[in-house]
Amino acid sequence: MADKVIITCAVTGAETTRAQNPALPLTPAEIADAAYDAWLAGASVLHLHVRDAEGKPTQDLAVFKDAIDRVRAKCDIVIETTTGGAVGMTPQERLQPVTLDPDMASLDCGTVNFGDEFIVNTLPMMREFASLMREHKVRPTLECFDLSHVYASHMLIKEGLVEAPFHYGFVLNVPAGVVYEPDVLEMFVRKLPQGAHWTAMGIGRANLPAVYGALAMGGNIRVGFEDNVYYSRGVLAKSNAELVERAARIARESGREIARPEDVRAMFKLRG
Ligand code: ZN
Repeated sequence: MADKVIITCAVTGAETTRAQNPALPLTPAEIADAAYDAWLAGASVLHLHVRDAEGKPTQDLAVFKDAIDRVRAKCDIVIETTTGGAVGMTPQERLQPVTLDPDMASLDCGTVNFGDEFIVNTLPMMREFASLMREHKVRPTLECFDLSHVYASHMLIKEGLVEAPFHYGFVLNVPAGVVYEPDVLEMFVRKLPQGAHWTAMGIGRANLPAVYGALAMGGNIRVGFEDNVYYSRGVLAKSNAELVERAARIARESGREIARPEDVRAMFKLRG
């Protein structure tokens, strides 16, 4: 029988704007409200980016701390901070939130095209990121935008920089990246270490198909405004929670139980 399904909600992201969806949460208070509503709807992991006073992506520690404190005051959702940051940030900026001891953090496993832009992740950078996460007992989500990133993750594991239990995130359908197709997802899954957990992250119109694909293959799912702002073709989602509610409904209908934060803490052996 498949494990309980973990629903991650990526409520804000770095690139999404209010022009794309006016309901996008931007301030730490708005992010905490969105996280709480997503938690009520069935999300057990919050993927967290924060914004500055102008709504631009930032890795500023004070803003991250404010957001984390507000979320933790409201509910026990597992907090996964980004270290992907936004296009153009330095590695040192991107890495900062790990020092705040979140439960988890994303760890990009290779360089990737992002439309006309690109995000650089060299192997030495990945080693540095993985080492700091290990030091702070922060469980990495090994984010793979490409099959080569899965192989790069094997190197980090072999070098002892990442330890089991492993959690992967497959980011599919980024502009100029690997598209989401069921056989592509299956190929990624087949190359994982034994017993690894994984979450499908379909970007844009691939979001809902990736939810279905992941559920069929026994994986976990991610929804939220970072990945997709629409509920259906041409119809904006009213909130992050609305997307979580639908994902939870689909998961239950497909026979999967929904994991709660305590389940995730046990499955991923999180600190505390
Ligand atoms: Zn992110």
